[in-house]
Amino acid sequence: MIRDVACKIKEICKRKGYKKILIQMPEGLRVYIKEFLEVIEGIDVFFSLDSCYGACDVKKEFDATFHIAHTKIFDVKDVYYIDYFQEVKSLENLLRNLNILPKNIGIVTTAQFGNYIMRLKNLLERYGKKVYVEKGKYSKFPGQIFGCYFEPAIKIEKYVDCFLFFGTGFFHPIGLSLAVEKDVYSYDPILNKFLNLKEKKEKYLKRRYIEISRALATDMKNIGIIISTKLGQKRIGTAIQLKKSIEEIGSKPYMLVMDEVTPDKLTGLNLDFYINTACPRIIDDSEKFKDFIILNPNEFYILLGKVDKYVFTQYF
Ligand code: SF4
Repeated sequence: MIRDVACKIKEICKRKGYKKILIQMPEGLRVYIKEFLEVIEGIDVFFSLDSCYGACDVKKEFDATFHIAHTKIFDVKDVYYIDYFQEVKSLENLLRNLNILPKNIGIVTTAQFGNYIMRLKNLLERYGKKVYVEKGKYSKFPGQIFGCYFEPAIKIEKYVDCFLFFGTGFFHPIGLSLAVEKDVYSYDPILNKFLNLKEKKEKYLKRRYIEISRALATDMKNIGIIISTKLGQKRIGTAIQLKKSIEEIGSKPYMLVMDEVTPDKLTGLNLDFYINTACPRIIDDSEKFKDFIILNPNEFYILLGKVDKYVFTQYF
């Protein structure tokens, strides 16, 4: 599979005449850099070792950028998004737990299993389920969501009794469970793990309400607004709106600009708390940011009493 990716990059470079290219890929694929160079010869290949969590994080420094395993969410000249699909290793625990799932199921996945989603639909239908799957504005594949984008699920929520996330890890299904009302189950076809996300959702919400209470318990006089310069995370309009809301309560806003949001950049500022306009999922890593209070904009509006229900921040 990685050779197919490398061949595709080689073919585009040859066709377009690129001489210097940057390859951006998720951390898990770095192990393949030797394979890339075995295939792509005769040009200068640079590998980006900066973190790359999504298609929102595109670097443009050479003739062209090849962004692997994410799909396009906006157009940037000479930036190419190359699919990388993961192999489905097992369906065992999914099939074993099918009786737990209600009749009407909405299925969602990530780009890595985008090529499998219609097969999953057919499979579940063979077992008597009524299966719904939709594309959203930013999905290349039916049912494709990402960490701050759940439109494909929201579109079908009224027809389904539950959602089934098909993919790896908890990052996406937790986000999904916060974005919809219906129950969310996840199945990891690599680790063969089936799970109801209810408990994880409750824990996440509890943690976030504790964070809002911690912010409320400060003087609330000096409040930082975190702004990222990453192409798809730069939300100046949101930051300006937050600045106004902070001023309206008689506090002082500080607009803080950075590329990647890391705790060391906030060290020494000594502000009461921070509102994050960059990737809304950085708050998931509570351990990493344990020395700071960081809220997403929706959480700040809950704190102000302007919103009474927890709405998960979606930017796309
Ligand atoms: S901003 Fe959205 S797309 Fe970008 S890394 Fe965060 S969750 Fe993923």
